[in-house]
Amino acid sequence: MTLSDNFDETIASVTFDYDDDDIVVIVGSGAGGGTLANELCQKGINIVLLEAGKRLHSADFENDEGLMFDRLSWMDRRITAGESLLATDWPFFPTWICKTTGGSTVHWAGQSIRFRDYEFKPRTTYGAIEGANLIDWPISLDEMLPYYERAEDKMGVSGRGGRPSLPLNNNFKVIALGAQRMGYTDYDASHMAINSVPHDGRNACDQIGFCMQGCKSEAKWSTLYTEIPKAEATGRCEVRHSSMALKVEHNNTGRVNGVIYVDANGKQIRQKARAVCIAGNAIETPRLLLNSESAMYPDGMANSSGQVGRNYVRNITGFVYGIFDKPVSMYRGAAGQGIIRDESWHRPERGFAGGIWLTSCGLGLPNVAAFMNPRGWGRDYALLLEQFSNISAIWTCGEDLPLSRNGITLHEKEKDQYGLPVPVVSITEHPNDVAMRNYSHLRAAQVFDAAGAIQTVESTLVPGSHNLGTCRMSDDPDVGVVNSYGQTHDIPNLFVSDGSQFSSSFTGNPTLTIVTLAIRQAEYIAERMRGNEI
Ligand SMILES: Cc1cc2nc3c(=O)[nH]c(=O)nc-3n(C[C@H](O)[C@H](O)[C@H](O)COP(=O)(O)OP(=O)(O)OC[C@H]3O[C@@H](n4cnc5c(N)ncnc54)[C@H](O)[C@@H]3O)c2cc1C
Ligand code: SF4
Repeated sequence: MTLSDNFDETIASVTFDYDDDDIVVIVGSGAGGGTLANELCQKGINIVLLEAGKRLHSADFENDEGLMFDRLSWMDRRITAGESLLATDWPFFPTWICKTTGGSTVHWAGQSIRFRDYEFKPRTTYGAIEGANLIDWPISLDEMLPYYERAEDKMGVSGRGGRPSLPLNNNFKVIALGAQRMGYTDYDASHMAINSVPHDGRNACDQIGFCMQGCKSEAKWSTLYTEIPKAEATGRCEVRHSSMALKVEHNNTGRVNGVIYVDANGKQIRQKARAVCIAGNAIETPRLLLNSESAMYPDGMANSSGQVGRNYVRNITGFVYGIFDKPVSMYRGAAGQGIIRDESWHRPERGFAGGIWLTSCGLGLPNVAAFMNPRGWGRDYALLLEQFSNISAIWTCGEDLPLSRNGITLHEKEKDQYGLPVPVVSITEHPNDVAMRNYSHLRAAQVFDAAGAIQTVESTLVPGSHNLGTCRMSDDPDVGVVNSYGQTHDIPNLFVSDGSQFSSSFTGNPTLTIVTLAIRQAEYIAERMRGNEI
């Protein structure tokens, strides 16, 4: 297997001077960081984008789940803790996140769901739930709507802005039949950040499948081939890939003034900065803040509230499989295309707070084998897998509750290859989460039964692909780490620019909202830079 010539291991030289203190340094090039970089460059601001992963190109993508998992995933050591089966089944892989230029937007399926108005107010809507650390967002749907529309246009979201929906794929045709027979009424091809028609110079989806292995046609939005090259084309963005940020530094007034990182050649570099924006996803962002402790910030940077790394949420997700007597070929067609909305509302009479989306998720054989039952082995499991062509899958996704104890801490002794303490990711489920999972699996199995499945199978807990909340936003600096623009309460020129700033997980997939917040944050940063407040 050869990678394209552009698969760079090293960076020969840098454009911006290491001592240039007018630069905004962004850590992480995924949904949050990649979008923010482009938005700021378009406003005339110079950016150094530090990315721990390599830089692949769409020619490097293969329709091979195992190979692309190895090529894209963040495999540096992480430890799973807490009282859930995840600690047993996935002791060193609590989360499914990428380490590559473009971040997890290379892997993602493209499901793009807006928050509803009440989902910005979970504490008010659900009331006090014992054991949960719920807060409302300091932002409303009305404020977000114009930015949602800009994000959807940027991402070419299907079924929005006059763009057509995608067609139904085989997997969802089976699911839709079950939904109809169940009496569900609100289901369709969903809104996907996948081109249903050519858009923004990129192709329309060719429906081959394997979207989560990287989209060779570039029909699926990823910062890798949209935001990042656009930012670079301004001449104001320098991407330093294979560059792991180790520590954010500050001056004697407490403001941040640079980032120490290890570059592609293994050399430690200090890049000076006028402002720093961290978008390393919800494990690495708080980890970097905690690792940036100093005499002035002994508990880590931006952590006067003690909330950095806490309140980790990841959605209640799982797979339910229906096995049929005829082929489904679920791996064909855009993987996540298709959704049932009937269960997505908050209806407390079901016995839990929050809602659930039931979505199509076309997997290939390696992922089915890995996720159906990580402890599965032997004849029965092999017999199930032999029927792969006849399997259909529903992915369930609901709102989980923030628990103060769930989150990221630094291991006291173990260090990674950069000499940084290994992150320990603690996950314990609230009874509301368990009730929601049981209900969502029951309903998904009923959909398959209604469609004529000969057997249904539930997955156990799977590593989180939606990782959120570990530096959450609140207007109250004792309760949250950042304000509604992602600006840390403690340090005005330090920002959190990814899903870590979510105040709650909400029901659906988060990336559209991460991109929306990045567009809004860019306006805020640019204004403050113009006013010399930053
Ligand atoms: C298989 C899969 C399917 C998904 N499907 C969907 C979907 O359909 N819809 C949806 O909304 N979401 C989906 N997601 C989730 C989505 O990908 C994430 O929500 C989104 O990409 C998160 O954006 P981010 O900016 O927070 O982080 P990321 O996109 O993960 O980017 C973070 C980047 O930061 C880099 N980084 C971290 N630490 C450092 C450091 N110290 N120094 C330098 N660089 C660093 C990482 O290498 C990474 O590239 C999916 C995820 C996966 C894995
Ligand atoms: S099915 Fe569409 S979105 Fe998925 S990889 Fe193929 S072209 Fe890309």
